[in-house]
Amino acid sequence: MPIRYVSTRGAAPPASFLDALLRGLAPDGGLYVPEAWPDLSGAAAGATFAETTARTIQAFDGGSLPEGAAGRAAERAAARFDDPEVVAPLTDLGRGLFLLELFHGPTAAFKDVAMRLAAPLIEAALTEREGRLLLVTATSGDTGAAAVSAFAGLQRVRLAVLHPLGRVSPVQRRQMTTVRADNVLNLAVRGDFDDCQGLLKRLLDDAGLRQGSAVSSVNSVNWGRLAGQVPYYLTAAERLPAARFVVPTGNFGDAFAGWVARRAGGALGPLVAAVNGNDALARALNEGRYVRRPAKLTASVSMDVQAPSNFERLWFEASNRDAERTRAFFEAFARDGEATIPDDVLRALRREVEAIAIGEEEAAAEIARTWREASVVVCPHTAVGLAAARRFGPAEGPTVVLATAHPAKFPEAVAPAIGRAPDAPESFAQFSGEERFTTVDADYAAVRAAVAAHAG
Ligand SMILES: *Cc1c(COP(=O)(O)O)cnc(C)c1O
Repeated sequence: MPIRYVSTRGAAPPASFLDALLRGLAPDGGLYVPEAWPDLSGAAAGATFAETTARTIQAFDGGSLPEGAAGRAAERAAARFDDPEVVAPLTDLGRGLFLLELFHGPTAAFKDVAMRLAAPLIEAALTEREGRLLLVTATSGDTGAAAVSAFAGLQRVRLAVLHPLGRVSPVQRRQMTTVRADNVLNLAVRGDFDDCQGLLKRLLDDAGLRQGSAVSSVNSVNWGRLAGQVPYYLTAAERLPAARFVVPTGNFGDAFAGWVARRAGGALGPLVAAVNGNDALARALNEGRYVRRPAKLTASVSMDVQAPSNFERLWFEASNRDAERTRAFFEAFARDGEATIPDDVLRALRREVEAIAIGEEEAAAEIARTWREASVVVCPHTAVGLAAARRFGPAEGPTVVLATAHPAKFPEAVAPAIGRAPDAPESFAQFSGEERFTTVDADYAAVRAAVAAHAG
């Protein structure tokens, strides 16, 4: 029986996993969640990473994908990692602290894990339906790099990536712009990440653009991508049952995947979302008011998010799946830039997730400390997670911090803390070719024209 997906805003018809994967956002503006949670306890027992992934996707799909597609996609995705059996190794830092290393894929950030899986799943779905897809995405760096790498050369997909000009790290930019593939368009927008997200939203709402082909996005509102982040929680919890998981958080997609893993029977302990100075989520959970503030530029650029999109999924759960209240809350937030969380929902949210904000100095000091004490170099995002994890002592049981990117992606932030440039993985050499991107103003007409021309 295919699993049915419902929208957090309650006004979209139920969809299959395949529909949710191809659509991204639900047509009523909400986010898709499965109507009922599958049982994934034991999915990682005695299994390779690919096997755990295949079981996870099969459980969330229930038969809308072509026969065998989940297994084949899981194998193909794992094969692109340094150790295909393991994909996400655990490193023991001592004193009950572990790193779950998610950066051993083609573009050296955790986004590779789910994007590498989503690409063959989308390809299989489009082949079955004889369809074509225009994928558009806005990126602060890592999502775009992972998407370009995963979707380059796919026959049925055209990809357009919007990044803010001059605001992604040079390594991130090269990973997007040096890939030779006719189905990829890189747009460097004269603006910031919020401008890119605003333009993306208009592209997704643009009925005229939809006439040629289906239009969707592969950011973490896409359930198919989020589901691909569940397996590494299951494999880590299998090795360290009841461990606390600390997740460097921006859009709250990765942390919500941890919540899903636990809800579906994974042996996870408490969940902690660690944010940088862009702390709307931490304030919401700790103070009860969700407020949009101006963006702060931090060293953990991929977490510089004002309004974490997946917060809506947790809110929906915390309200006992009350779509009316969820809609009212997020519409008020979109309109007024702030909203107060009702007491019952706030209490429920706090039972599920804790949030800790870490400042720039503390994060930088954490890179230096981890290098000094454990001879391990971490990226600035991972450092935010580690600093939050230090709030808990070894007596409180094992703590797993998600290591979300390779430090060499962010040498500007890492070198000053450790006194030298971090060693780059060999794979970085392939991003040394000529760069191709189109610079555009943060103007909808200009961006739309470029994307429409690329869609063909
Ligand atoms: C995207 C990203 C994050 C934040 O993940 P979310 O799912 O948006 O919360 C953290 N660290 C790195 C390196 C990232 O690329």
